Amino acid sequence: MNIFSSFDTLTKTNSFAKLPTDFYTRLPTTPLDQPRLVHASSVVAELIGLSSDALNTQAFLDVVSGTTAMPGGETLAAVYSGHQFGVWAGQLGDGRAHLLGEIQGPTGTFELQLKGAGMTPYSRMGDGRAVLRSSVREYLASHAMQGLGIPTTRALALVAARNPVMRETVETAAVVARMAPSFVRFGSFEHWAARKRPELLRTLADYVIDRFYPECRQNNSAATTAEYEPYVQLLRSVVQRTATLMADWQVVGFCHGVMNTDNMSILGLTLDYGPYGFMDGFDAKHICNHTDSGGRYAWHAQPAVAHWNLYQLANSLYEIVPDAAPLKAALDEFEPAFLAAMQTRMSQKLGLGAWQAGDETLIDDLWSLMQASHADFTLTFRQLAYAPGLTQAPEQRVEFDLGATVNAHLKPFVDLFIDPSAAQAWLARYRTRLGTQALENWQARVQGMLAVNPLYVLRNHIAQQAIEAAQQGDFDEIERQMILLADPYAAQPGQEAYAAAPLAGAPHLEVSCSS
Ligand code: AMP
Ligand code: MG
Repeated sequence: MNIFSSFDTLTKTNSFAKLPTDFYTRLPTTPLDQPRLVHASSVVAELIGLSSDALNTQAFLDVVSGTTAMPGGETLAAVYSGHQFGVWAGQLGDGRAHLLGEIQGPTGTFELQLKGAGMTPYSRMGDGRAVLRSSVREYLASHAMQGLGIPTTRALALVAARNPVMRETVETAAVVARMAPSFVRFGSFEHWAARKRPELLRTLADYVIDRFYPECRQNNSAATTAEYEPYVQLLRSVVQRTATLMADWQVVGFCHGVMNTDNMSILGLTLDYGPYGFMDGFDAKHICNHTDSGGRYAWHAQPAVAHWNLYQLANSLYEIVPDAAPLKAALDEFEPAFLAAMQTRMSQKLGLGAWQAGDETLIDDLWSLMQASHADFTLTFRQLAYAPGLTQAPEQRVEFDLGATVNAHLKPFVDLFIDPSAAQAWLARYRTRLGTQALENWQARVQGMLAVNPLYVLRNHIAQQAIEAAQQGDFDEIERQMILLADPYAAQPGQEAYAAAPLAGAPHLEVSCSS
């Protein structure tokens, strides 16, 4: 594997820039005032074949801050449209994002995009900038999701600058350099359907299929050989990926906050981190985005919203697929795919092994129990592995969690609930259920549960610590959190505070669309 020490030597493929110019506007970034590297990820750099030495160079900072163009790249802003909060919003586009180009990495291509590097023809009322607060949140969240094993755009670097940026108060500017195989969204398709430009819609669909879903051309599962068949298969594939992504989000208590169709990745990646949140106390109707007063994007609503968004994608594809029936059939695959993915994940989270009759009720009753107490989402599942009677002896549990001390600092499972007797009653049923499974070896079950139930998630109050430190010019907290979030399943002695729920009575942090 070749590793290079600068952007110059990386191979640029720039495939998006080879599409017709209808899809974007070429334009340079607008440099920031005294940009400073806050953090760069050597793990992400490796994906494009960039060495960790490269991250400390001025040439790297110049590119990821938008001071100079990426050598060999083609800087552009893409156009797209979308539905925002269920309403057709018309043209949106990269209002503060610049695609610098596409790089051939050791294992695949990645596009490099800057968020916050200046205005574009799609900025509308916006200033083309992003603030340090929201950029730290996007940077950390991208790494947190990767650590959890959830498909996401990646974050290469975070840059801070002196430029004042007006939001509710005056803040300072920042740029996130992020990467993904593609930033094409559902809204990229909606754009050309709304414009009645089927030829451009087909060009975009062909581009996405050729690069990311070549199997859609194999026509293997379809009874038809119609020339539009690949577009039906594309929808089917996106339905599958989106359904599993929703299950991934649901089982860690992740709320995206702004599931508009322009924030839905055609690759099934978590895209555009704004007012997202990992739940603390469980509430199925939890709304993480202060601006979403109606709760359209509440936790429990996310799968249905994803399905609705897929309908918009299907509606767009209807411009090039003259038969609605196969599109409808593809959409109907969402619910079973989502439920199957949830079943797999919940079975792993509870260490149930093979699915049995009654498991659904057992799990539903756990959600109800959590709801009644607003029990901490993350700790409920994490501590379940250690519930009394489920492990043989307290001293043995130490082996499975380096952080015996970590555990000692956290409330045991039953104490996470207001009514411990209800929790005990549920536990008794759970014990009975485990008793019926062939897993004689409880150690394997405990280990399995700890491997899928994270101890550390990027809770809002944790991210806030990194933001406040960064705003004071101290970037060490970001590094500390990155280390924990890279492996959120492994307890780290001495890091108890990062696993704990926010203190009762701590001021509620409001997170809005302002970014
Ligand atoms: P979001 O809700 O962040 O996904 O953004 C929705 C749309 O608004 C996209 O077209 C963004 O590019 C655009 N946008 C958001 N904030 C800004 C900003 N500060 N300047 C320019 N465009 C923005
Ligand atoms: Mg967006």
